Amino acid sequence: MLTPEELARVLPAETSSFPSPVPTQIVSNDEYMPSPQTEKQKQYEARVKELGSELARKQGMTRRTFFKSASGMAAAYLAMNDVYGPVFSVSRAEAATPEMADERANALKSQFIMDMHTHFLRDDTRITGFIAQRAAVGKAGWNPALVGKEQTIDELKFPNYFKEVFLDSDTKVACITGAPSEVPADWFLTNEMKAQARAKINKEAGTRRALAHAIFTPGYDGWMEQVDHALNDLKPDSMKGYTIGDNTNKHLSKHPWRLDDEKLVYPAYERFLKAGIKNVCIHKGLFPPAVEEKFPHLLAYSDVRDVGKAAKDWPQLNFIVYHSAYRWAGGGKPEDAWAQFQKTGRIEWVSDLAEIPEKYGVKNVYGDLGQIFAWTVVSEPRLGAAVMGILGKGLGYDHVVWGTDAVWTGAPQWQIEGLRRLEIPEDMQKKYGYKPLGQAANSPIKNAIFGENNARLYNYTPKQRAELVNDRYAQIKASYDKYGEGRSNLRYGYVAKPVG
Ligand SMILES: [Zn+2]
Repeated sequence: MLTPEELARVLPAETSSFPSPVPTQIVSNDEYMPSPQTEKQKQYEARVKELGSELARKQGMTRRTFFKSASGMAAAYLAMNDVYGPVFSVSRAEAATPEMADERANALKSQFIMDMHTHFLRDDTRITGFIAQRAAVGKAGWNPALVGKEQTIDELKFPNYFKEVFLDSDTKVACITGAPSEVPADWFLTNEMKAQARAKINKEAGTRRALAHAIFTPGYDGWMEQVDHALNDLKPDSMKGYTIGDNTNKHLSKHPWRLDDEKLVYPAYERFLKAGIKNVCIHKGLFPPAVEEKFPHLLAYSDVRDVGKAAKDWPQLNFIVYHSAYRWAGGGKPEDAWAQFQKTGRIEWVSDLAEIPEKYGVKNVYGDLGQIFAWTVVSEPRLGAAVMGILGKGLGYDHVVWGTDAVWTGAPQWQIEGLRRLEIPEDMQKKYGYKPLGQAANSPIKNAIFGENNARLYNYTPKQRAELVNDRYAQIKASYDKYGEGRSNLRYGYVAKPVG
């Protein structure tokens, strides 16, 4: 364990102005986030702030500091239960008694969490929409750590990524992903940058803390050469594709493609296999009716109609569908998804995804939870429970894999707590035949979703896992947990020397 002085040397703290305790102006960005405007959401927002102020005062701390504590996290889920009914396992005592909350948090600290869906942006990025998303998440009170914290582009870059993923959350291993664009400057990260960041992290940690995607872009100029380059020189842990073509600049998307395009894409799968890559990650969903209206020609590439045949034709590959093809985000509303579910028992296109194994007789289709917890569980908890139930029933819980889309919505800890505390309500289990997740935060099913399934997919060995317990990142985090929180000069702008 590092002493505070050593910690200060490892992580030169940068002071920054104290964050405004007043929530920032609502930033509604339809592109990225439903604006939190339902009655229920307003109630929740009021409730979490009221509860936070009350409990913070009792502890003699500011609300913002309180929200950074384990009790503050418990308070947020308590407020959810107060507004939506009891979906999360949390007690008032936990929110009011820091010792009790800390004890629980400590007991869960070592849980193996492998997040295969994390982002940061290149230093020269021009993409600013995610700032608004983080601000909206803070404004809504979904991620208590973002409440009242002003957001800047710096929060989306590597040093803050390191802090939020590896220090502010219980995540043990993370995959660095990205998104392509017809505009080269608008790739979140180039494939080179992803591989370099992985190398840097793993070198500093001395263990396999980071994995990296390489993006493949069928139809783009010279795309197959880029595939060869990635496979030969960058050695990604898996490949990732956007069938929508260009998700960031949809108006420029000229090369949408299908997973089951034999002529265009199958030759690439062949090369993946030859290079020892068996996991193909695919961005799907996030295409609500409002977006369809603007880009009707991209609809056919956003749902999962092309997954079944590809999976059947390529049993040696695993098709991991990101966001589990959940349609109702990126400008959609959770209440629309909830209305659809109540009416039909289905959720587009999560249900369509879940039906593939039975329809096609395949076992190699997986659902990633990237941001699902942000869009459903914390805004309409029963909708989140339905998503989990549908995936578990159709794909099997051993085919549901952890991803958070951090840092778009801040440190992933609130999403981790979401799954730890979630259970599918009994009436839904009965009515729809959903299998329970288990009440315990580390039930076998939750452990599988958090880490075991991804470990299996990516050959993350027990030896590699054991090495994490004492590596350099573990030491830094232990010091951070012990000394970091209370130190105002360590609060922001953590400059992560290990990677800087
Ligand atoms: Zn993502």
